[in-house]
Amino acid sequence: MTWTFDVTPNPQPRSAAERAEVLGDLGFGKEFTDHMALATWTLDGGWSDDKVVAYGPITLDPATAVLHYGQEVFEGLKAYRHEDGSIWLFRPERNAERFNRSAARLGLPELPTEAFLKSIEQLLSVDKDWVPDPAGGESSLYLRPFMFASEAFVGVRASHHVTYCLIASPAGPYFSTGVAPVKIWVTNKYSRAGRGGTGAAKCGGNYASSLLAQQEATEHGCAQVLFADAGTHTHVEELGGMNIFVVTTDGELVTPQAGGTILEGVTRSSILELATERGLRPVEREFGMSELFEGVDSGRIAEVFACGTAAVITPIGEFLTESGETHTVAGGGTGEHTLGLRQTLLDIQYGRIPDTRGWTRRIA
Ligand SMILES: *Cc1c(COP(=O)(O)O)cnc(C)c1O
Repeated sequence: MTWTFDVTPNPQPRSAAERAEVLGDLGFGKEFTDHMALATWTLDGGWSDDKVVAYGPITLDPATAVLHYGQEVFEGLKAYRHEDGSIWLFRPERNAERFNRSAARLGLPELPTEAFLKSIEQLLSVDKDWVPDPAGGESSLYLRPFMFASEAFVGVRASHHVTYCLIASPAGPYFSTGVAPVKIWVTNKYSRAGRGGTGAAKCGGNYASSLLAQQEATEHGCAQVLFADAGTHTHVEELGGMNIFVVTTDGELVTPQAGGTILEGVTRSSILELATERGLRPVEREFGMSELFEGVDSGRIAEVFACGTAAVITPIGEFLTESGETHTVAGGGTGEHTLGLRQTLLDIQYGRIPDTRGWTRRIA
């Protein structure tokens, strides 16, 4: 089929003044633009009815499959406004490809990369004024494509009716106070993903199962949870929604290898590619919890950071375990490579330095 995502304009879009008010006080994930993209898939007919319409509620039959069995996948990427007013995406093909890998794992249909990109292009054609000015530093329009089982059927099998939707939310810098090192709760009780499970898929279920551990983290004054492998709880995997890296004093940039239980972040793979130009040796390998703690305690690990699209790179200053141990990163956590990699990524995303790798794509 030819993907058009034709636009039916919202008859009652927010006024310029209302929009300015939202853009003047940016948070994360609470405000949405005037439109959304939609498409429908059925087992018999494939994809159809691709369109951009007014943003608004989706009415669902109480028997809708996703409400019972969680057959859902999503993506997260951003549209960045450059100084000259143009709007760009960062490696969106990566998100489109990952969306399909996630969909396949959850028994959902493939959405062609062309359709994924077209839905963003068409949404931005009407909502581009919602992409914040870069003036504030790190503001962007967060894009949330997702796909869910929309058949009204409570029998257990892959849904025969699926809905694709794309919404967009103007977002400010993740940390309003600047880049401050965060404290991480290390859970030994809960796991995020097991062998053969859905850890490598970006699906709501992974988040649902991480929320209780996240609550414990919050109760202990921590920003995020670090999960270990489900089998032995001795290897570092990742945080609830971010990948993790360490920088050693002898110049290694280490991240746990992806083997089906880790979500392979676009930020993660970009950082691995940027390592050598900073004189770091990128290494993906099994990484022990005890190696992490001993390295932090002895100072052999000089920097630790988390990464993902939403917060780019977040320095980690301290780990707190269930048994009450703390492991504090030397220097408090805001190391030169953490900040340097963060700056380079942002400079590429906002067009402040040349994009020599072809990572950015103009969309409006
Ligand atoms: C989305 C996500 C990440 C980060 O991926 P990016 O593509 O860098 O945004 C890391 N871990 C989990 C579990 C995620 O869902």
